[in-house]
Amino acid sequence: MVVFLKLGNFFFTIQSRRLEKLSPFSVLNRFCHFAPKPQENVAIFWDLDNKPPDPFPPYAAAIKLKATASSFGFVQHMIAYANRHSFSYVPPVVRERRKERKLLNQLENKGVIKPVEPYLCRVCGRKFYNNEKLVNHFKQLHEREHMKRLNQIESARGSRRVKLVGKYSMKMEKYKNAARDVLTPKVGYGLADELKRAGFWVQTVSDKPQAADVALKKHMVDMMDQRGAQCFVLVSDDSDFVDVLNEAKLRCLKTVVVGNVNDGTLKRIADAGFSWKEIMMKKAKKEAVSVVGKWKDRDVLKRLEWTYDPQIERNVYRSDDEDEDLLTEGSVEGVHDGCMQEDNSSSWWEIDSDSDIIMSQRCK
Ligand SMILES: [Zn+2]
Repeated sequence: MVVFLKLGNFFFTIQSRRLEKLSPFSVLNRFCHFAPKPQENVAIFWDLDNKPPDPFPPYAAAIKLKATASSFGFVQHMIAYANRHSFSYVPPVVRERRKERKLLNQLENKGVIKPVEPYLCRVCGRKFYNNEKLVNHFKQLHEREHMKRLNQIESARGSRRVKLVGKYSMKMEKYKNAARDVLTPKVGYGLADELKRAGFWVQTVSDKPQAADVALKKHMVDMMDQRGAQCFVLVSDDSDFVDVLNEAKLRCLKTVVVGNVNDGTLKRIADAGFSWKEIMMKKAKKEAVSVVGKWKDRDVLKRLEWTYDPQIERNVYRSDDEDEDLLTEGSVEGVHDGCMQEDNSSSWWEIDSDSDIIMSQRCK
């Protein structure tokens, strides 16, 4: 009975080893990150110090970036790093627009010009023919209401607080969207807030040079270790990220770079590269389709590829047909290192003859 069980076990191991040998794909899977999945996870890493959305508005740029990234899979992580300076920076375009607005306001107040379309309050729908009046109306009425609601929520506790948040959520959202157009943010042009609104996790680092780079790189490698994503979208032109991209490639991960330097080092390493303009014009989203097609082909080829791993091959052969293996090993060695045998021992015919003599002597 025990013998039967042992025999059964033995056949089973042989069978499973044979199966493994038949499909190199299953062996390959252990070494590569991209096991076949319905959709792969995408992580966006944005180096804001190096690549602000300039000259495009941050929210629109972030949304378009996410749309492009979603062509490569499910966008699971959106991360942006910058130092304080980047968040307080106002792009020249925005500064110019603010100056123009100020001038227009002055002219409107004096009655020199009148806008073709009236300014509309997006909270209550009232119309104004003077921008400054709209701003005053907004501040005096809607900003006050908003502060009152915030204070009510702040002072409430427990279920009452939850109820209040639910009750005011629609109104607060409406206010926030309207305020963005009417009130200019005091710090920067609301870069951090706008990116957060687009769903990004925004992290401010110390003002030391390269602080954002270091933090971003560490975060990327951590995510690779945890296998949080199979495709990495890096927004930067900084060649310091070469190592991280190479690391990702070594791990069979997919890489996409967004930057304005067309023939930059990063774009040469990455699988695909786009500029801000291509992202904004939706050109990148169209090109992404062909990139994904290439990846699919590459994955199929990788599965068909025969890879040689001496350790695995040896184990498989040893268990299966030990005798055959030894025979072939011996003959191969004999062909390649014919002279090696001479150092260690005498030739095969000499051994035979010696042993023959010994044998014959014993027999006598
Ligand atoms: Zn209003």
